[in-house]
Amino acid sequence: MHSDQKMTIHDLRQLMREFVAERQWGKYHNPRNLAASVSVEAGELLELFQWADNEASVERLKADPAFKKACGEELADVLMYLMSLANAMEIDVAATVHAKMAKNRKKYPAEQFKGHYQRPLPE
Ligand SMILES: [Mg+2]
Repeated sequence: MHSDQKMTIHDLRQLMREFVAERQWGKYHNPRNLAASVSVEAGELLELFQWADNEASVERLKADPAFKKACGEELADVLMYLMSLANAMEIDVAATVHAKMAKNRKKYPAEQFKGHYQRPLPE
């Protein structure tokens, strides 16, 4: 079984909570620092694709296990900082995702946006 099917968001949040507590890093894990860290790690993920066109990147992900592993590690960095940010801000991640997806469904009705995307004008 894929471990994504076994671990919950709660489990991931707990992993980060323990990691931070064991090192007494709570003083650094405030919302501003964590939001910055999410952005830094997202930049590191994007850096792996710098100067490569989309097709080459997709092919490399299939053919180069070390590249895929590096991408996974940066993805994990982003996700774990997001988990720590959720802890610091006491945000219910699953409820927030569901609410935001409901908002997105209204903003981008499938019948209107199927197969194409055009950013709606700001209200
Ligand atoms: Mg990183």
